[in-house]
Amino acid sequence: MFDSLSTKLDRAFKTLKGQGSITEINVATTVKEIRRALVDADVNYKVAKEVTDKIKEEAMGRDVLISVSPGQLMTKIVYDELTELMGGEKQDIVIKGEPAVVLLSGLQGSGKTTFAGKLASYLKKQNRSVLLVACDVYRPAAIDQLKVLGEQVGVEVYSEPENKNPVQISQNAIEYARKNSKRVVIIDTAGRLAVDEQMMNEIEAVKRAINPSETLFVVDSMTGQDAVNTAKTFNDRLNFDGVVLTKLDGDSRGGAALSIRAVVEKPIKFISTGEKMEALDMFYPDRMAQRILGMGDVISLVERAQQQFDEEEAKRINQKIRKNQFNFDDFLSQLEQIKKMGNLKDLVGMIPGMGKAMKDVEIDDDAFKPIEAIIKSMTPKERAQPELLNGSRRRRLAKGSGTDIQQVNNLMKQFEDMRKVMRTMNKMSQTKGGMQQMA
Ligand code: GDP
Repeated sequence: MFDSLSTKLDRAFKTLKGQGSITEINVATTVKEIRRALVDADVNYKVAKEVTDKIKEEAMGRDVLISVSPGQLMTKIVYDELTELMGGEKQDIVIKGEPAVVLLSGLQGSGKTTFAGKLASYLKKQNRSVLLVACDVYRPAAIDQLKVLGEQVGVEVYSEPENKNPVQISQNAIEYARKNSKRVVIIDTAGRLAVDEQMMNEIEAVKRAINPSETLFVVDSMTGQDAVNTAKTFNDRLNFDGVVLTKLDGDSRGGAALSIRAVVEKPIKFISTGEKMEALDMFYPDRMAQRILGMGDVISLVERAQQQFDEEEAKRINQKIRKNQFNFDDFLSQLEQIKKMGNLKDLVGMIPGMGKAMKDVEIDDDAFKPIEAIIKSMTPKERAQPELLNGSRRRRLAKGSGTDIQQVNNLMKQFEDMRKVMRTMNKMSQTKGGMQQMA
């Protein structure tokens, strides 16, 4: 699902790699790519523009946390905005009344009858007594189809094959439900291949006559922008309560899921991902955003980092790196921050692609202990000026920390390598800054 959208978004995030903070210059290209990816995925252009403008506004000037890359931070920002776009919170179906009546609408072939069976099965599992009603007066096969599904999920189906009046059938069905202690009535109506006036009049009349507690609009997600347009037409006439997005198991490009809420201002309540009766899911905007981005783990990583990391401290360290003053005190403070984020193996597992690779590798949470012991054996002056650490001082550190000279030398080498990388990065950003000023 949404493979191509995920890939394109991922590529957009990668363009931010290695940048120290998100600025107007580096965000512009990324945002443009995100917008293109959304439009390619059949997201309504206006919606794509609105959401990317918001993403840009959110991202601008954000200091990048030391613990996450700008690309990762951007992923989180996009995730938040996509979640919001799809409605933020999960919205439940409303089952209210004696009996509660659920009216299903949608075009022919959208998956309405299949969904009727799934919803019946879902509600039955909640110990409710359900009645399915076949109200398609044009296709006798539709009645049979519902009967087969009803049998499959163990729910009674009400039909009047000779009656051609859907208003009457649905009223009779509700009466029947009352007499037979059915608590929920699900009405499957007739669809057409395209929106047509007679169909609209008919379902409008049914709705007026039975006053359902929930009217759902069922739509095939593979139809992209058409799905959004049809939703708008149905909503203008029916003022429905929620949307059911079907066939998300196919190669749907995601546009419908992303645009419907913004265009019709009604929540998606269910998604259907297959022909089997079990393939029904509640719609969670946040989970859907994660699936679209295909990188749920990065999002939890950034969230954790944002919760745990001290922004002020991150800024301070950033300054020191810029001035080539990063020392062992800063190193120790960084270790503390990383440790606060929790189990090391969990953290590594959250980095995309790393989880599997690290599955069998033992990562000891005590891995930092000798390093900390060595740094803590240094005098404040040594921590601030690591170049003071000559041979005899290093031997003293090994003894004081209960490690050996090899471990101390290793740490010194790692630290020196780190500083070298930082110096190179600084030089590069200075030259780049200089060139930008000249341009
Ligand atoms: P209706 O005309 O709106 O009642 O649509 P149907 O329920 O008859 O569904 C039309 C076709 O789509 C049938 O072949 C269903 O099996 C199929 N279908 C329905 N929902 C899904 C789904 O979520 N995934 C897939 N792959 N097929 C579905």
